[in-house]
Amino acid sequence: MPDSIDQIDMRHSNLALVLAEIIRDPRTRAQLAVDIDMTKGAVGSLVKELIDRGLVVLSKAASGGAVGRPGRIVEAVTTRAHAVGISFSPPYVIGTAVDLAGNVVAREKVTLTERNTPIETLIEITRAITARLHSAVLASSPSSVLAGVAVGVPDLVDPSAGVVRRSPTIGLTDYPLVRALKSALNELTDVITIDNDATYGAVAEARWLGADGGRNLLYLTGSTAMGGGIVANGVPFRGSTGYAGEVGHMVINPDGKLCVCGNLGCWESEIGLNTFLALAAEPEDPVRDATIDGNERITAIVQRANAGDRRALQAIGQVARYLGLGLASLINIFNPDTVILGGYFIRLFPFLIDPVQQIVQQRVLSDQLLQCRILHSELEMYAAAIGAGISAIDAFAADPTAVPLVTDVVAVGAY
Ligand SMILES: [Zn+2]
Repeated sequence: MPDSIDQIDMRHSNLALVLAEIIRDPRTRAQLAVDIDMTKGAVGSLVKELIDRGLVVLSKAASGGAVGRPGRIVEAVTTRAHAVGISFSPPYVIGTAVDLAGNVVAREKVTLTERNTPIETLIEITRAITARLHSAVLASSPSSVLAGVAVGVPDLVDPSAGVVRRSPTIGLTDYPLVRALKSALNELTDVITIDNDATYGAVAEARWLGADGGRNLLYLTGSTAMGGGIVANGVPFRGSTGYAGEVGHMVINPDGKLCVCGNLGCWESEIGLNTFLALAAEPEDPVRDATIDGNERITAIVQRANAGDRRALQAIGQVARYLGLGLASLINIFNPDTVILGGYFIRLFPFLIDPVQQIVQQRVLSDQLLQCRILHSELEMYAAAIGAGISAIDAFAADPTAVPLVTDVVAVGAY
């Protein structure tokens, strides 16, 4: 008699649970049965199927003085699958390949040669990066399956519809990006997802921190635009329609500068990168020259600030003030374990952290909220692409039956 749909669903979710547990922490089947509260027989059957699909292997015997034959350790075969994460981050398109455990195994960055690069070009670059990263992974892990591609896009993205609703950064309105990517990448994969780039960035930063502050996290990008990503209770918080986290348009100064969104005094219009550069230097100053690499220009301002340049220090002071005020509000609202500053805030971090902490201390409502750490990103411009890859591989690992059975005699024989 065929299994009922419920039984099949239950087996899929149990396979996913066992795989996730083994990726996180290799252990014996007996120990796993205790840890996830299943019978040894049930765990044995699930592990057998994961072995047949090449996702785990039985490795060396567990050490320890237990009487009888020691159990063998079940370990994940992290090279069995990989996913590609891409981020559209003008002037770059960034790509990473991550393995089954979410580790970055290859990455690359393409510099865009034109301003306002058309979406067709971005899609072609995405296809080319995916093909190269996939080949690079196959070169060292020939049996690795491409699990899917995820693309992070700035501004308002509707992940469930696969549509970019409104992205001034890349000049799109109501654009069916997933459909366009599927047709361009059809020889590589048809598993394609999109999401807001800062949401993916937050996923990567949360994974990077792990139990050490990654469970409730705010990630802030600092560029011309300011995006925000939120991880709440270990999962991305997207809101009702996927737009949550647009902290750049939080009003911080009602009498402030005109924002691209049409309002006055948004966080982004007060301390986005262009405003900072305008505060730091005269219009004819090379640091205002958009044709020069942004990193070089920030380096120049940091050098000036280190040399005591008053205008540079005043500009940094202004950024610190509004950054602190905005973060104090967000910390009161979200009570995060960690705030991660990305983008140009990384380079200014040594100047920003003390004044920002001071403002936050004055404004948050309790000492408990002050336990929130404010750090700069370690993943830098790769955060969104890494988070996209992690999201794609996690979605894949949630249904291990999508992985073909292995006919490799050695792998099966290991059971
Ligand atoms: Zn705005």
